[in-house]
Amino acid sequence: MLSIAIDGPAGAGKSTLAKRLAESIGFLYVDTGAIYRSVGLFAHKQNKNCECDQEVISVLPDLELTITHEADGLQHMLMNGEDVTFQIRQNEVSRLASLVSRIPEVREFLLKTQRNMAKQHSVVMDGRDIGTVILPDAALKIFLTASVEERAKRRHAELLQKGSQVSFEQICSEISSRDEQDSNRTIAPLKAAEDAIVVDTSILDLEESFQVLRGLVEENLGI
Ligand code: C5P
Repeated sequence: MLSIAIDGPAGAGKSTLAKRLAESIGFLYVDTGAIYRSVGLFAHKQNKNCECDQEVISVLPDLELTITHEADGLQHMLMNGEDVTFQIRQNEVSRLASLVSRIPEVREFLLKTQRNMAKQHSVVMDGRDIGTVILPDAALKIFLTASVEERAKRRHAELLQKGSQVSFEQICSEISSRDEQDSNRTIAPLKAAEDAIVVDTSILDLEESFQVLRGLVEENLGI
């Protein structure tokens, strides 16, 4: 099995690009943000405060997460059997995911699930610590980034398209605070692995970014 790790901050285009890259080379795409989102949503549904580590940790034994890949081409998340694929995309869940992802016990709880996916399939896995912690031996590590303003612009356009009324300023400030939280946490902070190739997509559109990634795969893995 071969693994490609794609890490980077929110809104850099990771999920769209990783998914397309995986399809183009016949690998399985694994979105690890969805797993943290599911934990945040579950804790919230259990009326727990995601800012309190102990409250979140207390619900972990009651949570069974399953990742499936369906004919619709999407990665589906099942939370104790309930399909929460679409619920976890709500803007509020981004904040909950970032909060629960600070907790070492949560990261430990999710470690095996992620590594098992990579044992069973050749994967393109996207997240924050895939190249540094989850798959340190990945065949190729890419750190995808872009300026905060550009990332906020993209996320804003995406949310508007989904009918959300949120303002650009609000998205910009949410992205900055998520960056801050993800980069400064003590465990598995968001950072490029030493052997990662950094790709800045600020001035690239989606197609150009994809071509850069596809070129890196060809150059480094010969596929
Ligand atoms: O990628 P996405 O925006 O869906 O991730 C939501 C949150 O989950 C991130 O802001 C981050 O706090 C957390 N996360 C993480 N490690 C990962 C993937 C996501 O800490 N591998």
